[in-house]
Parts: sequence; structure tokens; C-alpha cells
Amino acid sequence: CADTAMYNAKKNGRNGYCFYNQEMSLKLSRQIAIEEALRIALAEDELEVFYQPQFNINNGEIFGAEALLRWHSKTLGSVSPAEFIPIAEQNGLIIDIGLFVLATTIQQVNQWQKSLQANLKVAINLSPRQFKDPNLIQKIALLVDDRSIASHDIELEITEGVLISGQAQVKQALDQLHELGFKLALDDFGTGYSSLNYLRHYPFDVLKIDQSFIADMLVSTESQALVTTIINMAHSLSMKVVAEGVETSTQLKILQQLACDFGQGYLVSKPLTAQQFEAFFRTQNTNKKVIAHSRL
Ligand code: C2E
Ligand code: MG
Ligand code: MG
Ligand code: MG
Repeated sequence: CADTAMYNAKKNGRNGYCFYNQEMSLKLSRQIAIEEALRIALAEDELEVFYQPQFNINNGEIFGAEALLRWHSKTLGSVSPAEFIPIAEQNGLIIDIGLFVLATTIQQVNQWQKSLQANLKVAINLSPRQFKDPNLIQKIALLVDDRSIASHDIELEITEGVLISGQAQVKQALDQLHELGFKLALDDFGTGYSSLNYLRHYPFDVLKIDQSFIADMLVSTESQALVTTIINMAHSLSMKVVAEGVETSTQLKILQQLACDFGQGYLVSKPLTAQQFEAFFRTQNTNKKVIAHSRL
């Protein structure tokens, strides 16, 4: 690290070196502030689970949602999960925070299945550190039992980072979850190692194509070729495909042509509070018309 700083100092001159140090210490103090505030976030009731609708690419039907955590800190304001999850991951707070997301979401699905009379499904993100908890599976199984939810209505999303971390232990955990009937999704596909070995050796039901590919698809024929290949490969391995970050009807049209199964993105809805999601779901026939219309 010092070497990098010295290198930058030479490259950018004396000011470059100072700037680099200042940037590093700003980053560090932000990190410390987040860590401190995050320790009391659960107790202070500052965390809330939002739900982003997931829809059938072909007919627009909303069949479920991805649970996405939101933090409104009394001292720091809103902090993005992209910023605080990696910190919670480092200091272990993710274990309690992750359980909060699991418990909240599972009880919410149970409530929705009754109030909406629909077989709603929900996807929940799991981080690498959560797999170090030897009781993770037992805890998840208990939560669905308590709420009498079918395990196949819960999808667990992991990124390749999880697979790289703990090897044997993770493989065992994923196999066990799969045997218990939980759905497994590989998140952000295309951004990590994207090793085909993972797809062969782990029991994934769903592949989520990272939003960067969906964004580039409109301007890059290479990206579109990759999306085509990923969809066909997933289908040949009997996996379903979710496109993340669907923002325009042009993207939707292309994904329909490529026989992508499901989508998620601002075109249909941003992540919503539980209450907003419920209202949104009730108007889903209107949503279907939007999708059907964009096919013309
Ligand atoms: P992710 O799991 O890949 O979630 C998708 C992200 O894309 C979400 O960002 C979502 O708000 C955003 N997104 C959805 N549709 C669109 C779109 O059309 N355009 C654009 N530009 N973005 C869209 P978010 O909520 O900020 O979460 C970021 C990441 O933080 C997540 O990426 C996930 O890795 C992590 N995260 C969020 N909640 C949890 C959680 O409860 N547990 C864990 N372990 N990680 C979480
Ligand atoms: Mg996800
Ligand atoms: Mg993702
Ligand atoms: Mg992501």
C-alpha cells in the first residue's frame, strides 16, 4: 500500500501524494463512522427491508420480489447497502443483520400469501460471512417452519464471492439448502470469475445476469451476444434466468426475443416498502398491460 502511495507520489508529484493520503484517511474515517453507527442500527430500528418486484418477461406478471436492505441512520442519513454491507461483512455484524432480513422477509411473505391470496416468492441475498455460521441452515429452516412457508417460495441469492470463500463448507450448505427445497440463485453473473465449474458443481436454479450487461446490451453487440449466450447456456442446464436492471422497453423487447424468463428493474418498479409493494401487487393487471403494450 505504501509502495502504491510512493508510486502515485512520483507519478503525480508532491500534491498527488498529499491528495492520495487525504483521500485514504477520508475513506477510513467514513468507514469507522459507518461501523460505529451500524452497531446500533438494529437496536435503533433504522433498518428496513424493501422489496423490488420481479416479473415474468413474457406476460409481465409480478410473481414475487427481491428483498433489499435500506438503512436510514439518524447520524449519517441514508447509506447504500453497496457501502455498508461490505463493512458489516468485515466486522461480522452481517450475521445479525442477515438474520433480521431473513426473519422480516419470511414473515412478510407469509402475510402476503394470505392477504394477497397469491403464491408470492421472495429472493433474499446472503453474504459469504453468513455461511461461516454453523447454524445458518437450521435458523433459516426454523424461520420458514414458524411461518408455515413452503421452502420453495424462498430463493437465496449468493454471488461468486461466496463460492470462492469457504469451499467445502459452502458446497455442503448449498446442497443442504437445495435438499430442503430452497431455491438458489447465482447473483451478478458475469462480473466475477463466471466459472462454468460453479454451474456444474452447485445446485443453482436461477442465474441472475448482472445489470451492467443489460445496460450495455443496447450499445454493444458484444454485450448482447454475451447475454444471448448466458441465457442459452442457463436454459441448457435447466436454470431459469433473471435479467437485472431492466430500465427500458427496448431492453425488455430484446430480452423477450432472447427468451429470458424473468426481469427486475426500474422499468417496472424500483424497490418498494412492504406497504407500497402490496399496493403495487394489487394493481398488477395494470402492469401486465404496460408490458404487453411494449411488445407491440
Ligand atoms: P443486488 O443483490 O445485485 O441487487 C440489485 C441492485 O440493483 C439493488 O441495489 C437494486 O436497487 C438495483 N437495481 C434494481 N433495478 C435497477 C435498475 O433498473 N437500474 C439500476 N441502475 N439499478 C437497479 P441496492 O438495493 O443498492 O443493493 C446493492 C447490493 O447490496 C445488492 O446487489 C446486494 O449485493 C447488497 N444487498 C442489498 N440488500 C442486502 C441484504 O439484505 N443482504 C446482503 N447480504 N446483501 C444485500
Ligand atoms: Mg441480489
Ligand atoms: Mg445482482
Ligand atoms: Mg449487486
